[in-house]
Parts: sequence; C-alpha cells; structure tokens
Amino acid sequence: MNKAEFIWMDGTFVPWDEANVHILTHTLHYGNGVFEGTRAYQTQKGLAIFKLREHTTRLLNSAKITMITPNFDLETLEQAQIELLRKNHFKSNVYLRPLIFLGYGVMGLYHVSAPVRTAIAAWEWGTYLGEEGLEKGIRVKISSFVRNPVKSTMGKAKAVANYLNSQMAKFEAKDAGYDEALLLDDDGFIAEGSGECFFIIRDGVLISPPNDNSLESITQGMVLELARAKGIPVERRRVTRDEVYMADEAFFTGTAAEVTPIRNVDGRVIGNGTRGTMTKELQEAYFDVVYGRNPAYEHLLTYI
Ligand code: PMP
Repeated sequence: MNKAEFIWMDGTFVPWDEANVHILTHTLHYGNGVFEGTRAYQTQKGLAIFKLREHTTRLLNSAKITMITPNFDLETLEQAQIELLRKNHFKSNVYLRPLIFLGYGVMGLYHVSAPVRTAIAAWEWGTYLGEEGLEKGIRVKISSFVRNPVKSTMGKAKAVANYLNSQMAKFEAKDAGYDEALLLDDDGFIAEGSGECFFIIRDGVLISPPNDNSLESITQGMVLELARAKGIPVERRRVTRDEVYMADEAFFTGTAAEVTPIRNVDGRVIGNGTRGTMTKELQEAYFDVVYGRNPAYEHLLTYI
C-alpha cells in the first residue's frame, strides 16, 4: 500500500511504521471496534474531505451502537483528520481510515473496562473496483452468504465484526471470477454489496433498497439527492434477484467504490452490457460534487 508519513494515534502523530499495537489488543481477539472510510479529493482549491461531518458522526454512532465510549469528541476527531492531511502533504486523492478500538489491558468478553483507543490513518488510494470498472462496469455475483441478519447483527454500525460477512462474500465472488459480491437479506431481498449500496434503473425509475439490512450509505444518500434534484423518479423499495436480472442499468455506491456501474450479474448481461446512460449521468454528477465542481454542494467539502 501507499505509505504516508504520519498516523494519528490518541492525540499524537506517530511515524507510519511505528503505529503499532500490542498482540493482546482486545479488538484483535473479539472484534469489537468501529471504523470509517472517508475520501479526500484533489480539487481546484486543493485537497478537500467529502462529508467529514457525516462520516465522523457515523463513526461516533457506530461506537454508541457497539457500547464503546469514544475517547475523543466529534470536533477533536474532525480536527485530527484535517491536521493529518496537512501533515502528510498528499499529492493525489486520499482515503481516510479512522478506527476506534479496544486496546491492551483486559481479556475476556466483558469489554467495558478495556481501554478505548482511536487511530486515524490516511493514504493515497485510487479507484476501489478498478479504473476500467468505473467506465465499463463490473461483473457481480449474488452471494451464497446472506447479509448478517438484523436479528443478531447491527448493520447500521460500521463495526469491524460485520466485515467477516463481507470478506467471505467478497472472497467467494472473486474466487468465482467476478469483481464484487451482492448479498441478499435473510428474506431473499437485495441487501447490499460487500462494501457498497446497490441501485437499479427500470423504465427511467431509479430504485434502491431501503437500508433495512445495510449500512446507511453516505454515497447512496448523495446519489439519491442528486437524482431527485435532476427530476429523476426515485423509489426506495425491496428488490428481488430476478428484478435485478431484468434491470436496464445497475450500479454500486460507496465511498471507496464511488459510483461503479454493473454490467453483468450472475452471467446475465445488464442493459447493453456497459455503463448505462443514467448511471453515467449520476456518476458524473457525483464526481462534480466531490471534486468541488458543483457550487451548490461545495459546503459538503472541508478544504485542507
Ligand atoms: N455498505 C457497506 C457494508 C460498506 O462497508 C460501505 C462502505 N462504507 C457502504 C455500504 C457504503 O457506504 P458509504 O457510501 O457511506 O461509504
């Protein structure tokens, strides 16, 4: 990976190679930790973090859900992310990874007396699902792994433990020659991708499943807002796999995945087998926002 110079750990900047933890770090053993994935783009006015407030708020909400008492408040965490980007002098687009975790000192499942720690890493990172995917679309497999059922897992938290489910689905899809996995919920309706929310377009209507069994995706929210502003009809409702196969267009959204078109699902060609026209329009609108080219949404950017 692209190393940076510093990582922020519990209030201080630590050289990248020294940002280490003890092997008995609680989160490493029992999986209770929460994180974010946030992007900063090189705009005309320099590097800018997209939706810093929303991502940092979600981080603290994730901690609340999983019963971790954060050791820093919202403003401090926001400032730390800004300072981190300033100190690292990045030349291209950046991915930020704040992590609140339980440190070394207590073992056993009763976690409440484990020390809470916070780290923020940032590094230069390009497209998540490939530059070609952004243009031509990716191939997706509906996973044999059902999305963690809401009866026993809390998918609104961006919790470390939830990502075992994502990893198994991702591995299965990649191993079968696909680019990404799409997971169903335990009733058989589309839940989300391994790290993305999902959209289809049918007869000019943009459809995305409700967030019943998915993260409340910040990118999904942005794309829905852009679509509504363009007068595109939007539906939030359950979607079945056969409806996906019949869709005119499909795409994923996520901070890492941005707006990635889907050209094939389970061997069925979606639309004309490439990026659809509405997908392209929404993708361009999204990039205009994050790169600071749309003044109406510039307030969503935090310039470094
Ligand atoms: N679902 C999951 C499981 C994810 O990990 C992500 C990435 N954070 C998303 C959806 C997309 O969320 P966002 O647009 O906020 O990055």
